[in-house]
Amino acid sequence: MMDYPLTISTVMRYGTTVFGDKEVVTCAGDEPARRRSYAAVGERAARLANALRSLGVDGDQRVATFMWNNAEHLEAYLAIPSMGAVLHTLNLRLSPEQVGYIATHAGDYAVIVDASLIPLFANVLPLAETIKHVIVSGPADAAALGALTGQGREVHSYEELLAGARDTFDWPDLDERSAAAMCYTSGTTGLPKGVAYSHRSSYLHSMAVCTANALGASEQDRIMPIVPQFHANAWGLPYAAMMSGADLVMPDRFMIPAAVVKLIETEKVTMGAGVPTIWQGMLAHLRAHGGDVSSLRTLVCGGSALPEAVMRAYADEFGITMTHAWGMTELSPLGSVAREPVGVTGEAVWPYRASQGRLICGVEGRLTGDDGQVLPSDGKAVGELECRGPWITASYYLDDAPEKFHDGWLRTGDVGTLDAEGFIRLTDRAKDVIKSGGEWISSMELENLIMAHPAVAEAAVIGVPDDRWGERPLAAVVLRPDAEATPDELRAYLADRIPRWQLPERWTFVDEVPKTSVGKFKKTTLRDQYAAGTLAVTKLGALPH
Ligand code: ADP
Repeated sequence: MMDYPLTISTVMRYGTTVFGDKEVVTCAGDEPARRRSYAAVGERAARLANALRSLGVDGDQRVATFMWNNAEHLEAYLAIPSMGAVLHTLNLRLSPEQVGYIATHAGDYAVIVDASLIPLFANVLPLAETIKHVIVSGPADAAALGALTGQGREVHSYEELLAGARDTFDWPDLDERSAAAMCYTSGTTGLPKGVAYSHRSSYLHSMAVCTANALGASEQDRIMPIVPQFHANAWGLPYAAMMSGADLVMPDRFMIPAAVVKLIETEKVTMGAGVPTIWQGMLAHLRAHGGDVSSLRTLVCGGSALPEAVMRAYADEFGITMTHAWGMTELSPLGSVAREPVGVTGEAVWPYRASQGRLICGVEGRLTGDDGQVLPSDGKAVGELECRGPWITASYYLDDAPEKFHDGWLRTGDVGTLDAEGFIRLTDRAKDVIKSGGEWISSMELENLIMAHPAVAEAAVIGVPDDRWGERPLAAVVLRPDAEATPDELRAYLADRIPRWQLPERWTFVDEVPKTSVGKFKKTTLRDQYAAGTLAVTKLGALPH
């Protein structure tokens, strides 16, 4: 066979010609949505590559983005890797210090910034000295632009650069193993670490995303990635769309539930993708205000555990089957997709749909015990999940982190079971596990069960020190608006569903569970608050027999 390199340039060339009439739609709030054909995106990507070259972007220099999900971000996704440079998506929800740290660590040379984010990015620039060119996408007045200027740094308009550049680019032949894009982990449990995706890994991952057993993206789809393009490349969906001919419907900065529902209605979205908090918010909105979401064939949900109660509510109330998936930045990010095997029907589907899913072909998994020995994949043994495969990182950028790897496998830091059919059922992150009297209590299982209570909007469970048992669970609960429940009632509700010794005796009601920059429960903050004594905790006595 031909030794033909697997590159993003190939995906771009295919998507922007064969599917040149397909479109990327960008939400513009109350204004009509902006529409651009993939053919136009391809031409503008060529202009962008010429413009970046003229600014001195060469070799594998990093070109960062600080942008919402929109057409221009898609152009950057295509042009930057295809010209041989490295696309570095910066997380706009982090603090300026964190973004500055990440941009400096990556050595970003230029950055494309959305005009609406200029005030935020102006605070980053003094902390990101490697950046020599700031390219502003969208209308901005001179005063705003002034905030970006600085010594040794030039500020440009994205549209002016593109207008002045040639509309064809001599795309280079690239080594498929060279870096195409990089993304830093969101740092839920530590300092962010950089993962560099190669052209080859991105290509193979996109193909996997398109397979029917994974997300089955096809020309029939209009995909709406609510998951930000800076969060593990929007789960690879922009490239999967180019490859499969699916249209893209981008929310830009309009991600409140009302705007998302309106976008689904007007653009006839078939597949949405986002973290649980997004779909929980949309569920509450649909219940309160209604909405036509009949165009959806599925809502893909990953990034943290999707409560079974949410999946059931979408199915029962709106006829939508959610697709729960598991992955991580280090896995490009897709690892597994939860769908019941053929022949499983009725109530029996839920243990499959609520699991983290079946590993997709290309991602191998195994479990290891405390001393690193490999455990059986029998659905019973509980251990740390390790993975390997062609789109799984083999190292971190300029960070050895030997503790993250084990004999050629990536240690995921996720704990749970793996069965012979390839289904993963996670119980915790290694750093979140609760060990009570020598036995594990799953915080994810407790959260899932508490969130099924009709009065509960959100619940996070952490382990807290306990004199007698070493550690015990503490439940932090957010009640639904106008709903009431006491710790006693919630515990009694759980008592029918889990062993008595796992029932939390410590409860606290909070207005909101602290969240990370990508909307995951930030348990480190809860632990700090508990340690500092700032949580109002009710401690229940022993359960009556
Ligand atoms: P960070 O590690 O900083 O949170 P990632 O977005 O890469 O950034 O997070 C990957 C982690 O998110 C996984 O290791 C896992 O702990 C968690 N996760 C992702 N999807 C799921 C899921 N479906 N269920 C439970 N946990 C999940």
